[in-house]
Amino acid sequence: MTRALSPKALLLLIALLPACYQPKQDFRQQWFIFGTQVTVELFATNRARAHAAFDHLDQLFRECNEDWYPWATLNGPARGELARINRAIANGEAIVASTETAAIIRRASEIERLSNGLFNPALGALSELWGFADMGRPWDGPPSPEAIAAILGTAPSTAAIQWQDDALVSANPGIVLDLGGIAKGAILQRTRVLLKSLGIRNAIIDLGGDLVVLGKKRGDPVKVGIRGPLNDARLLGVLGGTELASGEAAVTSGDYERFFTRDGERYQHILDPRDGQPVRHTALVTVISEDPLLADAAATALLVGGPEQFDALVMALGIEAALLISDKGERIMTPAMQRRIRWAKQ
Ligand code: AMP
Ligand code: MG
Repeated sequence: MTRALSPKALLLLIALLPACYQPKQDFRQQWFIFGTQVTVELFATNRARAHAAFDHLDQLFRECNEDWYPWATLNGPARGELARINRAIANGEAIVASTETAAIIRRASEIERLSNGLFNPALGALSELWGFADMGRPWDGPPSPEAIAAILGTAPSTAAIQWQDDALVSANPGIVLDLGGIAKGAILQRTRVLLKSLGIRNAIIDLGGDLVVLGKKRGDPVKVGIRGPLNDARLLGVLGGTELASGEAAVTSGDYERFFTRDGERYQHILDPRDGQPVRHTALVTVISEDPLLADAAATALLVGGPEQFDALVMALGIEAALLISDKGERIMTPAMQRRIRWAKQ
């Protein structure tokens, strides 16, 4: 037996309907943060959920920016967690890191070990010396060989960090932690976890070309372009494309991201820990993985290793899909990457 609703209950239901029923739509928000443009797109979700997600992301991005970039800016000295950790290391004091930051430093340290030191997150002093820590300042040109040798002489390495739970201490004051080569991966990972916890099923998170995907875009797998090196016209070409499965990240390290020019020479921001010089032999590396931290750190490590160490590094780091383009335009890639790229017609 069914019972008709009273007129009062019916009126209440009609009044509540618009609040409960929100059509599914796509949403997009942009930030300028981490020195790049960040775009987050959410697909097939409702307005309330999308707005809650953007508010949480705003907070998360600010926290990561303050905590994981240790350099002073024109607005004053760095106040975030990594800057505090670096001060403690410089003074030989122990310091307790947050769980998230401790996890990233440990992961970066593991990748330093696996890459035989080609990825080195303890070389912050060298990035500062070259001027890459603050691109806003006028550039004085390449540093002297003596200044570079003095930093390399302190043998900065995260191997010299001792841990007790999340507390760390080091006897090497030459260590200046610089998570620039892994932080975007860490942010992509935290964003992916956050969006999932907020019930977002379909999204693209794009940190200046480094992305992670959740679900699908309007029912189809997400397609991304594979970037080509900087050409003479200073334009970025797109070499081809691939689809990213839900949960996958695509991260690119390139010599075009941050650089100084002097007397026709380009000096880019990824430094070879063996001689303290900007890498020249490789234009860019793209890595695709379900582990954004690994993708990010591996892209940096592979760029430093160059064509010669590509196979050995891919193996040591456990990377399936990677593409390297040398400064001469040579393309080197893993079989998995070869299978998934659809090349654009030249
Ligand atoms: P990415 O764009 O991920 O390759 O990171 C580049 C950033 O990583 C630089 O701006 C530096 O902060 C840092 N970096 C430079 N050289 C190295 C290196 N050999 N190992 C680890 N991090 C590096
Ligand atoms: Mg990287």
